[in-house]
Amino acid sequence: MSVADDKTVVREYFNSTGFDRWRRIYGDGEVNKVQLDIRNGHQQTIDRVLDWLKADGNLSGLSICDAGCGVGSLSIPLAEAGAIVNASDISEKMVSEAKERAKAVLGDRAGNVQFSTQDLEALEGRYHTVICLDVLIHYPDDKMADMIAHLASMAESRLILSFAPKTLAYTLLKRIGEFFPGPSKTTRAYLHREADIVKIFQQNGFTIARKEMTSTRFYFSRLLEAVRS
Ligand code: SAM
Repeated sequence: MSVADDKTVVREYFNSTGFDRWRRIYGDGEVNKVQLDIRNGHQQTIDRVLDWLKADGNLSGLSICDAGCGVGSLSIPLAEAGAIVNASDISEKMVSEAKERAKAVLGDRAGNVQFSTQDLEALEGRYHTVICLDVLIHYPDDKMADMIAHLASMAESRLILSFAPKTLAYTLLKRIGEFFPGPSKTTRAYLHREADIVKIFQQNGFTIARKEMTSTRFYFSRLLEAVRS
């Protein structure tokens, strides 16, 4: 499948069944046990990024690009903490849900985040920090170098990415269908080798600064922070 076809499938999924599924998982209403596990795992990834950025002590006024922002799970708390956030997603439904959520919680900080519907590879501009969480799962290995290089070109100082790691255990889990359980597993899920991603960072002038791993029963996400070397 070409990258354009892959993207069309992903966009259509997150504008239809995927939107309903992920809006619930990334919400606080009732969900099934598997979805609750994924919700808790994802929240840990979000909290780890927020902890890193808050620990640096310079979040207020910092320019951040949240590429593939989903329903705003990271963008909204970043805006709340005073960062100036450009949040975008390929799915207009995800973006409109993110806007609603931002309006409901941000009050006078609402101006700190701008939302748009865009393919992250068409984004422009320069930001202190570019963040892209749990989006690489939609990118096959042969498309990820260009995608990461594009994100790197927008990052003045730092790039933060998370991805589902390709280890033997997770590959087996995925193969037996537990990795993406439930009836809506209609998009392909791509796992990636950490070494491949670190190499792409290096080729773009970045070195790893901090790492985290979140694993629950059904959610696995390796988080890497890379800074310009
Ligand atoms: N980053 C968000 C978070 O962690 O809460 C959302 C993660 S969700 C699993 C993946 C998101 O990536 C979806 O909202 C999807 O529409 C978006 N996405 C996938 N491919 C994209 C692309 N090429 N450009 C922008 N967004 C994309």
